[in-house]
Amino acid sequence: MADTTFMDKLVSLAKRRGFVFQSSEIYGGLGSVWDYGPLGVELKRNVKERWWSAMVHARDDIEGLDAAILMHPRVWEASGHVAGFTDPMVDCRTCKARFRADKLQDAQCPQKPSKHPGEHGTCDLTEPRLFNLMFKTFIGPVEDSAAVVYLRPETAQGIYVNYQNVLNSSRQRVPFGIAQVGKAFRNEITPGNFIFRTREFEQMEMQFFVKPGTDGEWFERWRQWRWEWHLALGLTPGKLRWHEHGPGELAHYAKAAYDIEYEFPFGWNEIEGVHNRTDFDLGRHQEYSGKKLEYFDQAANERYLPYIVETSAGADRVTLTVLVDAYREEQVEGETRVVLGFHPAVAPIKAGVFPLVKKDGMPETADRLYRALRAGGLPSFYDDSGAIGRRYRRMDEAGTPFCLTVDGQTAEDGSVTVRHRDAMTQERVALDQAAAFLRERVGA
Ligand code: ATP
Repeated sequence: MADTTFMDKLVSLAKRRGFVFQSSEIYGGLGSVWDYGPLGVELKRNVKERWWSAMVHARDDIEGLDAAILMHPRVWEASGHVAGFTDPMVDCRTCKARFRADKLQDAQCPQKPSKHPGEHGTCDLTEPRLFNLMFKTFIGPVEDSAAVVYLRPETAQGIYVNYQNVLNSSRQRVPFGIAQVGKAFRNEITPGNFIFRTREFEQMEMQFFVKPGTDGEWFERWRQWRWEWHLALGLTPGKLRWHEHGPGELAHYAKAAYDIEYEFPFGWNEIEGVHNRTDFDLGRHQEYSGKKLEYFDQAANERYLPYIVETSAGADRVTLTVLVDAYREEQVEGETRVVLGFHPAVAPIKAGVFPLVKKDGMPETADRLYRALRAGGLPSFYDDSGAIGRRYRRMDEAGTPFCLTVDGQTAEDGSVTVRHRDAMTQERVALDQAAAFLRERVGA
């Protein structure tokens, strides 16, 4: 499969099956903003819930937080975003296309012929201009500069400014972390690749506060844990790698930074960053707010500004990774079978429930099973239309790991056929054991 074809197929499947729609589509869409449909919202929720459960519920050294999107504008001065959250932008004087100067690769101008037939000349680029990526809006009725607020471009700052509130209201002591999932906004110059780079997105960020001098070992632990989390999502290990920020890439305040990258059809790209941010963030907020943000270590009777190890992942980007990694086409009995081979824990629908035929009490039994599964927290899908093979294919495309069919034997011995999505093998399971069977396999 050529790479563009792969993404075209995925985008079209995502729309057809209700994973992702273009925002405001009936008005022609809004550039690089996307909506999640019935299956997509479940998939992304499952990704976020796995993150929350691993980062907050399973650990006693991390607290959760849900800070507001709008923050005091001084926050963004302290963080460096007002002065420095910029990308260098260049334009082509001929075709007017716009590029990010730091991501520029051989810009071909569609309006400039080349000496070689079928090729274009290169774009005639302007000097780079810096462009701030933060969206501005106004608070209150007067739209003047004093009323400017920003839509947060990252969730991390909400954590830093609440670090003392969390410390004072919980039983935590350094080392400890604060985790948050929430929307972030960036007016990206060159967004694209479907939901990979969008202007509105969700982040899953955790900031871990440690004693200076112990930051190196915590950084290594967090690298390991975050790597394992992605593997446990079922991602192909060979498509994940670490990318270490070299001296040119490393933010001036960071001591070390590694990205977890995935091999997308459009190349290796970052899905999560793990950064040793030193005491830069708390230092800056201490300076700009005038409030002391030092930690008092009672046991050692000493004060210090904690260092921060950050793990920052995009919920949409991880959802795209899960979709890309799961998509496959197989030839089965002369037909192409499209499968989303999701890990059962993130699959939007856990089971398809079918009566083999619409008679002999089969629909009634299947309907009872279907309702019991849903009520028991197992999202399921009832389907009695068309040949059984077609019903299986529809569930394969939705990434549903199991199909349960009520058939002639059900009335005799109280069992149903379970069909496995990946191996397409079948086995029989007792009706009253179906929920337990699924629960064991989907981790619900
Ligand atoms: P890039 O260099 O690709 O612009 P970044 O290094 O600025 O990204 P971070 O600020 O480290 O990205 O953001 C942390 C995570 O948030 C990224 O790993 C990514 O998963 C997610 N993310 C960042 N920007 C976007 C975006 N525009 N759309 C979707 N997800 C994003």
